[in-house]
Amino acid sequence: MAEWMPIEIEAPDLGRYAAGNTGVPYVMTFRAHAPGPHVVLNALMHGNELCGAVALDRLLRDNVVPARGTLTFVFCNVEAYRSFDPAEPNASRYVDEDMNRVWDRATLDGKRHSIELMRARVLRSVFDAADILLDLHSMQFGDTPLILAGMVEKSVALARRIGTPEVIVRDRGHAAGPRLRDYGAFADPASPKTALLVECGQHWEKRAADLATATCYRLLAACGAIDLPPAAAYGLGQYPPQRVIDVTEAVTVTSDDFRFAVPYRGLEVISKAGTEIARDGGRAVVTPYDDCVLVMPSMRLARGQTAVRLGRYTG
Ligand SMILES: [Zn+2]
Repeated sequence: MAEWMPIEIEAPDLGRYAAGNTGVPYVMTFRAHAPGPHVVLNALMHGNELCGAVALDRLLRDNVVPARGTLTFVFCNVEAYRSFDPAEPNASRYVDEDMNRVWDRATLDGKRHSIELMRARVLRSVFDAADILLDLHSMQFGDTPLILAGMVEKSVALARRIGTPEVIVRDRGHAAGPRLRDYGAFADPASPKTALLVECGQHWEKRAADLATATCYRLLAACGAIDLPPAAAYGLGQYPPQRVIDVTEAVTVTSDDFRFAVPYRGLEVISKAGTEIARDGGRAVVTPYDDCVLVMPSMRLARGQTAVRLGRYTG
């Protein structure tokens, strides 16, 4: 059932980063003399989402170091990434469990064991040290890139300062467990620490890697870590104005038989409240209000997973 998109991105060889420069494998930190924020750029939370790895590899090869503050590059779930196989490109999302559902203190402090938890526990202090975190992801369908800002206004404000991607999504995350972008101080309105998750496009399209690279540069410039980014090289400034979607609810799969009414790709606007968009074990899933936007419909329709998020354009 090879219904996935063509693979336009070559998975970069990350061997040169294996030792890192901080004692943590696949983590590189560079410090400026001038004070400034600690920015952490994170790639490969999901092993099959290549755009972040390409972007960080490009920045590292471009010798990007901060003019102010500290800049850390993280290749996150390298175990999963290593198993990437272009013939089976969805298989390498994770080894044991979704690494972006383990980011709460109880889980990290707990006794449960998995490849992903082991790595998360090693990386925890890296993320704890971040003032600004950019977590680079990609999607099953990627017509329009999204920036997931969580529920905190500081993240929306940072997304606007970066200026891309064009759609900012305010959402609560997943029933299956907290994301890194919602971990600890990042989700605390009283803390200045700010995180964004960017869905740069479809997993294997070249455009996603270009957007990931541009977003890294724009973030670094926006927070003063670097001076002007190399605009010409990455087509910066060519993106449409941003819009905000407020997600009101996530539809979580509750049965072993969840089916969408039609194969949605995301950002469809369903005009009438009460329109059936899916069946979950025979139960109709309907839109709760007029002009309901479908955000990131999933093909992973297992019980407990997020099938789709529902929201509306607010700005
Ligand atoms: Zn992801």
